[in-house]
Amino acid sequence: MKALIIGSGIAGPCAAMALQQAGIDSVVYEARSTGADGVGVFLTLASNGIDALRSIGAEGPAVSAGFPTPAIDMVSTTGKALGQVRTSGPDGDTVSRTLKRADLYSAVRDEAQRRGVRIEQGKRLVDAQNTKDGVRAVFADGSEEVGDLLIGCDGLHSTVRGLIDPAAGAPGYSGLIGLGGYTSGVPVNTQVGSYQMMFGKRAFFGFVPSPDGQVWWFANLPHPKEPDRGALAGVDPEVWRHRLTSFFADDTGPAAELIRASREITPASPMHALRTVPAWHRGRMIIIGDAAHAPSPTSGQGASLSIEDAVELAKALRDLPNVEGAFTAYESLRRPRVERIVKQAARINNNKAAGPVGRIIRDLMMPVFLPRLANGEQSRQTYGYHIDWSTPTSADGATFGS
Ligand SMILES: Cc1cc2nc3c(=O)[nH]c(=O)nc-3n(C[C@H](O)[C@H](O)[C@H](O)COP(=O)(O)OP(=O)(O)OC[C@H]3O[C@@H](n4cnc5c(N)ncnc54)[C@H](O)[C@@H]3O)c2cc1C
Repeated sequence: MKALIIGSGIAGPCAAMALQQAGIDSVVYEARSTGADGVGVFLTLASNGIDALRSIGAEGPAVSAGFPTPAIDMVSTTGKALGQVRTSGPDGDTVSRTLKRADLYSAVRDEAQRRGVRIEQGKRLVDAQNTKDGVRAVFADGSEEVGDLLIGCDGLHSTVRGLIDPAAGAPGYSGLIGLGGYTSGVPVNTQVGSYQMMFGKRAFFGFVPSPDGQVWWFANLPHPKEPDRGALAGVDPEVWRHRLTSFFADDTGPAAELIRASREITPASPMHALRTVPAWHRGRMIIIGDAAHAPSPTSGQGASLSIEDAVELAKALRDLPNVEGAFTAYESLRRPRVERIVKQAARINNNKAAGPVGRIIRDLMMPVFLPRLANGEQSRQTYGYHIDWSTPTSADGATFGS
């Protein structure tokens, strides 16, 4: 069997490695003609994402590119503690890590290439069809490829999603834009690897001290009208520095000072989420990762779910007798899990853009609800998800993961 994988972000190279472990060949086609520079600020690779990488023996490079970040302390605009969110599984051994997004891209891509996976850059998919016994993919450069199946790992603004179902909805804009930066020389009152996130008066702010003495930070600002694609990319970082410091001027904590002293401020981008895509597969084409379900970045789960998807799909293709049956079994397990996490993240997002009354209610209720929401059974299910590569997949998806 040969799989055509579209997209070399996070899901794509992971899918190629997992398929290889399952004895299935693949080629990855990536639209970008160069590496992963400028793909965003930093992210958290959660314990469940690390576990999924471990099931294919590929966690090493990603883990060593980051530093451990076991918990997040949430505070209000006045600095009042609202609660702590644990970001690791119940075993306590696998701790979530924070790393630059571009470094995670490179870690999985380089590891896949080291294992002999072919990744072709500068290949933008524009069309694909199911054929009598496989798939045919057409690229913007006019070239075509055929394979036995096609896996769309082409992210939030997926082309494959529309080819599977032309009526599939577009990602929803969250009303927030996000950006971040790196600061040196500003002391903060938290330990290395300990996140602090603040529901500020006007916007949301998070920071984490890194082992090399820097402070990595991000901000989510309300921006009711969705900006045109690419419109924010050209805004001068100095404009953001000025705007952001005034956004956080009235909040307790180091936000304004960290922004003022930043040596680097990354371009801003609109924040989207993709809730329910009714059709994940048609014939021999399927979407995984952000192409199928994108929780808002607030969840800290998008990358990890994409890796889980890649491994679970490869297992289903390994164990079930035909491609369509494997796709159906895969979907029946993955859909409830990912849609629960997408929904949970949307709730937190609403709190980030609360008005004056909403803020008072949030700050009163959060200490009551956060421990249950963040550290209860749901959190254990999210962060403690374990994939056992040797457990066979059944046709109803019932034996997936744990
Ligand atoms: C600001 C921000 C913060 C985030 N923070 C976190 C976090 O803390 N934790 C977390 O887990 N997740 C986080 N995420 C989400 C995470 O980055 C995504 O969930 C993850 O990248 C999804 O992986 P993917 O492989 O599905 O898609 P992507 O990483 O988007 O990769 C898609 C790839 O497909 C390529 N492509 C697109 N169209 C085509 C085409 N037609 N033909 C060929 N190639 C194509 C793209 O160039 C890209 O390389 C964050 C996202 C953002 C924006």
